[in-house]
Amino acid sequence: MRITMVGTGYVGLVTGTCFSNIGNEVTCLDVDPAKIEKLNNGISPIYEPGLDELIDRNHKAGRLHFTTDKTQAYTNAEMIFICVGTPSDEMGHADLKYVLAAASDIGKAIENAPGATGGELEERRGKIIVVKSTVPVGTNEKVRQAIAAETNKPFYMASNPEFLKEGAAINDFNKPDRVVVGVNDEGTGGRMRKLYEPFVRNGHPIFVMDVPSAEMVKYAANAMLATKISFINEIANLCEAYGSNVDEVWRGMTSDARIGNKFLYPGLGYGGSCFPKDTLACVSMGIESETPTPLLKAVHDVNQQQRLNFYDKIVEFFGGEENLSGKKIAMWGLAFKPGTDDVREAPALTIANKLVDAGATVEAHDPVAHETTQIVLGDSIGYHDDLYATLGSADALVICTDWPEFKQPDFGKMRSLMGSPIVFDGRNLYNPQLLQDEGFTYFSVGRTPVN
Ligand code: NAD
Repeated sequence: MRITMVGTGYVGLVTGTCFSNIGNEVTCLDVDPAKIEKLNNGISPIYEPGLDELIDRNHKAGRLHFTTDKTQAYTNAEMIFICVGTPSDEMGHADLKYVLAAASDIGKAIENAPGATGGELEERRGKIIVVKSTVPVGTNEKVRQAIAAETNKPFYMASNPEFLKEGAAINDFNKPDRVVVGVNDEGTGGRMRKLYEPFVRNGHPIFVMDVPSAEMVKYAANAMLATKISFINEIANLCEAYGSNVDEVWRGMTSDARIGNKFLYPGLGYGGSCFPKDTLACVSMGIESETPTPLLKAVHDVNQQQRLNFYDKIVEFFGGEENLSGKKIAMWGLAFKPGTDDVREAPALTIANKLVDAGATVEAHDPVAHETTQIVLGDSIGYHDDLYATLGSADALVICTDWPEFKQPDFGKMRSLMGSPIVFDGRNLYNPQLLQDEGFTYFSVGRTPVN
């Protein structure tokens, strides 16, 4: 099939590359010429494990193209996937300006396209415009109207929310737990099924449903995952208040099969480009439809507070924010989670900003997220390629991301480098007893501090 992906971000680039990898002819379109230039030179603009090699192979095979030329990208495609960003606006609504701008471009391209070449039946029947971006219920219809405002020629709409996780995106897309497709007509459902069948040879389902339900599935899934994280963080905070150990509580609680043990780890709360904005978008949908969503509002508030609570632990240890001035703080981890260079809504950035505002010097290491952090924080913090290089004379180490390489460091080396052996671990990477035996003062989440 001839497919155009609109937007070469984490979703558009990964899914486009994976579609091309099974033999489809894929064009990835972006309005950012710097991204397209990088891609045409064989450089991925994002970090995602395994992606560089997959792009290179399919690009060289002539199945994967990168362009800023909208006319070319839209005219030839049988299916167009809108994968542009839908960030929160200042009111917490999903901002649809990129989605609707793409829709308008698509409408113009359909209108100006020469008549169908008469080849494939599907081509003569009209293009399918697929909204893959995460969008509030009703957006698919708005996109249809924005396209129809530009052309009377036939086209079809589908909703196809994406469930990949950054850091494991290729595997998630190639072996999905499920594919969700929303359509208004059976023919489009059939064409979407045909596209996805090679990805579900694992026996996992393709759910074809109505469009509003498909749009809601994505929000329901992300709101549930966000709720789990805020829930366990709230329990962790109670554990701290009452001297319980959240590890023990977790074990005892999650052995109930109705609860399960997945995605229930305490820490600094969620970040990234999805959970925060999607939870807020659900709250906004509730306000708009006068259907209160107090639970999801609380999920968001608990999450935003969690990183501030952790910062407060640092402040409290040093005896007040004013005492942070002149302190040297090492920071391990900047990305919102391991396996990605994405720092959108990352707790590390909130904490680094607050430390810098209080007059501390922050010396940071992240395996892949220096470039993306520098775009946001500039040189207000130091960046080090080696994790131990952050520690020289440090007054404390703050751990913000659970990268695997942080899990078993050389504690002796850390102790000898640091000015004071103090660790604030926002991801509960270590056993408190071990850190105490190693001579550290150690703070984590939901567990009693040791020294
Ligand atoms: P992103 O910000 O990484 O990428 C979006 C890209 O779209 C950018 O490169 C931008 O230049 C481009 N763009 C904007 N307007 C355009 C236009 N008119 N024409 C062509 N290109 C245009 O975004 P992302 O993280 O890939 O997310 C995209 C959507 O997918 C969002 O709605 C997000 O919620 C959803 N989603 C993201 C993830 C994830 O893990 N990142 C997972 C599932 C769903």
